[in-house]
Amino acid sequence: MKRLFFTLATTLLAWNCFAQNTGQVPSKGYALYTANGELKPYDFTRHAVGENDILIETLYCGVCHSDIHQGRGDWSPQSYPLVTGHEIVGRVAQVGAKVTKFKVGDYAGVGCMVNACRHCEYCEAGEEQYCLDGRVLTYGDTDVYHDKELSQGGYSNNIVVDENFAITVPADAPMEKVGPLMCAGITTYSPLVHAKLKKGDKIGIAGFGGLGHMAVQYAVSMGAEVTVFDLTDEKREEALAYGAVRYVNVKKETDLKGLDNTFRFILSTIPSAYDPMMYVNMLKVDGELAVVGMPALKDAPAVSIMAMRGRKKVWFSLIGGIRETQDAVNYSITHNIYPKVEVIPIQKINEAWRNVVDGKVHFRYVIDMGSLK
Ligand code: NDP
Ligand code: ZN
Repeated sequence: MKRLFFTLATTLLAWNCFAQNTGQVPSKGYALYTANGELKPYDFTRHAVGENDILIETLYCGVCHSDIHQGRGDWSPQSYPLVTGHEIVGRVAQVGAKVTKFKVGDYAGVGCMVNACRHCEYCEAGEEQYCLDGRVLTYGDTDVYHDKELSQGGYSNNIVVDENFAITVPADAPMEKVGPLMCAGITTYSPLVHAKLKKGDKIGIAGFGGLGHMAVQYAVSMGAEVTVFDLTDEKREEALAYGAVRYVNVKKETDLKGLDNTFRFILSTIPSAYDPMMYVNMLKVDGELAVVGMPALKDAPAVSIMAMRGRKKVWFSLIGGIRETQDAVNYSITHNIYPKVEVIPIQKINEAWRNVVDGKVHFRYVIDMGSLK
């Protein structure tokens, strides 16, 4: 036993010395080791803090349904060990020589992207999420700017990121609620802004979970008349408390009655198989269905070309650019729009994932990274 402990300790020491010599940053997190396995502790290194980079010590990281989809390989095969998490907020612990946006001690957030080419038409337009030539997602992606290392996410005690891909967070923000603004926030804020909602517009939010409850708050703050769609009656009171005018349990015929030709806009955040035509039929002529929910590939919903009873648009939206993410964070803070969070220690992450899949979270788990000792 003593010998095992000694071997472990010397390996860890050697690994730390190696990391220090190369400037690499030792990191500690929870990773998936296989698509269907449990998340377990994982020690690894991150690339050195470059001249434009900041090192963030993670305080909190939200648990997005995308972590589960991607970790489980729902959309495409993954490489493991994989540290998920892209709703990160923390304190800046180190800054590179050319960093201007942050200083040590500031607070910063990181969402779903950590880099992009910066020269394609979309990067130039501030829509780096649609970069054509080298976008790097926060985890599970090939970091072409760092020797093709596998990017590792926020279920960990730190992250190194280019300052241009970090979001500034004021020191007095409620940090445990800020992480989810980096994904659930921007992903719903962006399509609502692009839909150019007008006061009194009748709109729908389908799927009232982590993303959906943010969408309802943004849409209500923009003056829309919001109807919420979800699978059970359980969240009816909460939807109305957030300012929705109607709650529809999609399993109840009576709730659905009379809704065709009603809405100017519907946002779908649904993460599993469903019939999008039900929502298309509820749109008025020139109405729009925007889709951000991303079910597993095997469950991908299909839109029928027989939807010709009216001129309607179906469009898709992926998170938002860095500038717009900063806008979403600023808007949220100004309008006091935050997720309803349940803070958990990292040791409860596997139970939390099961609860998200089973629809048992109201509304966002957030991991307290202080629990990662
Ligand atoms: P959650 O699990 O927190 O919320 C999903 C909600 O949808 C739950 O309330 C769930 O109900 C409800 N729901 C499930 N099936 C239906 C249905 N058929 N009709 C109505 N409601 C339904 O997930 P998130 O909010 O974290 O994520 C939602 C989706 O958005 C995921 O697919 C995720 O990958 C995707 N996503 C996409 C992004 C983008 O950029 N486009 C960015 C971030 C996430 P119940 O709780 O009862 O199960
Ligand atoms: Zn997400």
